[in-house]
Amino acid sequence: MWPYHPDLLERPVPRYTSYPTAAEFSDMVGAAAQAEALEAIPQDADVSLYVHIPYCREICWYCGCNTGAANRGGRVSAYLEALDDEIHLVSRHLGGRGRIRRIAFGGGSPNAIAPLAFVRLLDRIVTELDAGGAEISIELDPRSLDDCWFGVLRDARVTRASLGIQTCAPHIQQAIGRVQPLAMIEDAVVRLRAAGIESLNFDLMYGLPHQQPADLDATLVEAVRLAPDRIALFGYAHLPALLPRQRRINADALPGHRQRFEQAAHGHRMLTGAGYRPVGFDHFALPRDPMAVAALQGRLHRNFQGFTDDPSEILIGLGASAISQFPGLIVQNEKMAGRYRMLVGADQLAGRRGVERPEDDRWRGRVIEQLLCQGEARMSQARMSRARHALAPFADRGLILCGPTSVRLLPAGLPYARAVASCFDRYRSCSTGQFSHAV
Ligand code: SF4
Repeated sequence: MWPYHPDLLERPVPRYTSYPTAAEFSDMVGAAAQAEALEAIPQDADVSLYVHIPYCREICWYCGCNTGAANRGGRVSAYLEALDDEIHLVSRHLGGRGRIRRIAFGGGSPNAIAPLAFVRLLDRIVTELDAGGAEISIELDPRSLDDCWFGVLRDARVTRASLGIQTCAPHIQQAIGRVQPLAMIEDAVVRLRAAGIESLNFDLMYGLPHQQPADLDATLVEAVRLAPDRIALFGYAHLPALLPRQRRINADALPGHRQRFEQAAHGHRMLTGAGYRPVGFDHFALPRDPMAVAALQGRLHRNFQGFTDDPSEILIGLGASAISQFPGLIVQNEKMAGRYRMLVGADQLAGRRGVERPEDDRWRGRVIEQLLCQGEARMSQARMSRARHALAPFADRGLILCGPTSVRLLPAGLPYARAVASCFDRYRSCSTGQFSHAV
């Protein structure tokens, strides 16, 4: 279905959950710019919140998230107190401006904290930031989804949830340090639906150690049977130099580039064959799901959480390492939980690294987002002609169609989407090797 051109995929490229990407953040941009951006939010602007809980009950070996073990109660409660401080600080800077439309809890695993602590945290956000009526989503680890969580999610009116599944194959679960029996996942799905979760996502992975085509196939069959509204099928990125916990994964057991490519193609074929609509290059959604509708109507966006139907241009990140995005600025909070606590405890915003987005970066960001979300980007003739040379290898092989003012991904070009987008990335003229392969 997809032609394989390894030379076009060998250069590591970012996932482009923002542009410029986190690799361009510097400590020249921090709390002062963050304060200015918060204070410049228009009165009636739609705002989304992201709340980072950097703890998990068990740490998976493949994980690339900023998270640690939630095995010391004192550490978690000190962090939650710091979150309270930050909510209060942000509220002061907002001064009542902005309308909070969405609240996303991610991590880590938000359900690594006590259910009662979650209720208190949400209550604090709703009260201090006037966020009643916001749509609430949460990332959940089925392994720490204790009974009382279901009632809490229902009472808190959480309507979207994402379950970390990755694979259903027991031998691969062992090889990646994440063991969760299928029965546990089935139980979580049934009870989340009963608790009012309207949109349920599964995170799955290909490119895992010892993963054979039949293993991926079996996981996809189970996923389709359980009928989540959305499925994200990510390629595992093995970067042990950056992520020491990945050293426990046997690199010799990882599939090669060609096998990864075939796994991605197989996943795409199977999920679309089962009735899921492709959303961007690695998400799938049932046709009735708002994300599938947004993709069909050209309203799909990309932010730090991946593909989204969230139209807001303003995302405020709360918690250690959380990233806030404004039209002209991206800023990331202090990553280390201890230092984050000290900053907000001293009544200071926690922004430590970031990047301003001049107009040149903003149009590049728009083009990259349009390519990844809509499969087509438009720009001025001058900009298009400057990009033509970099795009030529993709055009010559029938993967994209270049017009005088536009570039369009052809169906065969979907797995090359990130590589094509990187032609508009002024920071990626030579790769630094800190990103994953394009498939
Ligand atoms: S549960 Fe999720 S966030 Fe936590 S360690 Fe595993 S993959 Fe990472």
